[in-house]
Amino acid sequence: MKPMGPIPSWATGEEEMLLIGGCGAESLVDEAGDTPLFVYDMDIVAAQVRRFREAMPAALHLHYAVKANPYAPLLARMAHQVDGFDIASGGELEMALESGMAPDRISFAGPGKRNDELSAAIFAGVTINLESEGEARRALAVAEAIGKTPRLAVRVNPDFDLKGSGMRMGGGAKPFGVDADRAGALARMVIDAGASWQGWHIFAGSQNLDAAAIIETQAATIALAARLSDEVGATPPLVNLGGGFGIPYFPGDVPLDIRSIGMALDTALEERPDILRGSDFAIELGRWLVGEAGVYLTRVIDVKVSQGETFVVVDGGLHHQLAASGNFGTVVRRNYPIAVANRFGSQPIADPVTVVGCLCTPIDRLGDKVALPSVEEGDLIAIFQAGAYGASASPAAFLGHPAPREVLLG
Ligand SMILES: *Cc1c(COP(=O)(O)O)cnc(C)c1O
Repeated sequence: MKPMGPIPSWATGEEEMLLIGGCGAESLVDEAGDTPLFVYDMDIVAAQVRRFREAMPAALHLHYAVKANPYAPLLARMAHQVDGFDIASGGELEMALESGMAPDRISFAGPGKRNDELSAAIFAGVTINLESEGEARRALAVAEAIGKTPRLAVRVNPDFDLKGSGMRMGGGAKPFGVDADRAGALARMVIDAGASWQGWHIFAGSQNLDAAAIIETQAATIALAARLSDEVGATPPLVNLGGGFGIPYFPGDVPLDIRSIGMALDTALEERPDILRGSDFAIELGRWLVGEAGVYLTRVIDVKVSQGETFVVVDGGLHHQLAASGNFGTVVRRNYPIAVANRFGSQPIADPVTVVGCLCTPIDRLGDKVALPSVEEGDLIAIFQAGAYGASASPAAFLGHPAPREVLLG
C-alpha cells in the first residue's frame, strides 16, 4: 500500500454517495450526460476568497491567475470575487475580457508575447508585465503604431527564491522577468518613453505550504520593490508581491497557515519604506483559490489482475488530469487523494489497487497501490484537488479520446 493525499475536509457522503455542493456525484454525472467530468463548486472558491480577505490586510488586492482554471463560467464568477486577473497569453486575454473583468484590472505576464498579443492587450487597456528589454521596445513600438499610451509594469526576476516551492520561478538565471539589477533602468526607460508605468511584478514561486518561507519572501519582495523604486525615483502605483500559496495534494501535506502570513504582511506593509507609501499591493493566486473546489469523476471500465496486482481501469486519465499522474511539476510520483464516489466512507479492503487511465502508456496512473473499498465495473472514482491545472493543463488530444465535461456548481 502507498499512502494518498488527504481527502479535503468539505467532502462528505450520504448513503455512501460522495456529495459535491450538496449533490450526489452520480446524479451530477447524470445531469452532465457522461463521465469523465470535472465538477467545480463555486461555494468552496467563495469560501477561500473570504478566508483570504479575513486573514490579509484590508487594502491588499487579490488577483486570480487565470491559467489555474480558465473555465468560462468560473471566470465570469471570479470576476466578481477578486480584484484583478493575471493572464499569460492572448487566448487568456480574450477569456478575461469576456468574463467582464475591467481591462485596467487585468495584467498580462509571460515570456514570448507576440506583437499581435501585445497589440490586443495594449488596445484593450490591459497592463503588460514586461519580461525583457526587447519586449519593452516591442510594446512601445506597437503602442505607438496604434496610438495608445501603454500601461507597463516591469516583471522582476528576484535575486532570491521562495524556499520549498513546487515550481521555482525566481532566483538564478530564469526566462521570467528582468534581472533585479537591470529592472530599475528598464522602468526608467519606459517612463521616459511616455508609457504609463504601473509598477513591479515580483513572483518567486508556486505551490508552497511553508508559511515561514512565504513570510520571508514577501518581506524580501517589499524590500526589493523599495530598492528598485528608489533607483527609479518614483512610487510604483502597484507592487504585485506574487503568490505561491499551496494546497495539500500529497500524504503529510498540511494546509497553509494563511493567518500568520496575513499578520506578518500587515506588519511589513505598516513598516514599509516611504517610497512605497502611496503604492497598492496585490497577491496573485491560482491553485489556492480554485484547486480544492474541483473533483474529477471517472467511471470504472474494467477491473483486472496481473501477477497478483489489481488494476482498476477508468474512462479518464492523464489526458484530462495530468497532474494526478505525477507528470506535471512533480519530481516523484505520489498519490492525489482519491475515493470511490459511490462507496464513499466504506472501509478499504486489505489489498491495495492501482487505478490507471485508459491511455495506452504506463505513465497513465492515477492512483498507485491505494487502499480503496472493493471496486467493481461501473463504479465512480473521484480524484480530489482537481480544480486547478486539470482540464486546461493536460494533453487532451493525446490518443484521441473525448474532452472531459465540466460543470460549475454554486
Ligand atoms: C502560474 C502563475 C501563478 C499562479 O500560480 P499558483 O501556484 O496557481 O498560485 C501566479 N503568477 C504567475 C506569474 C504565474 O506564472
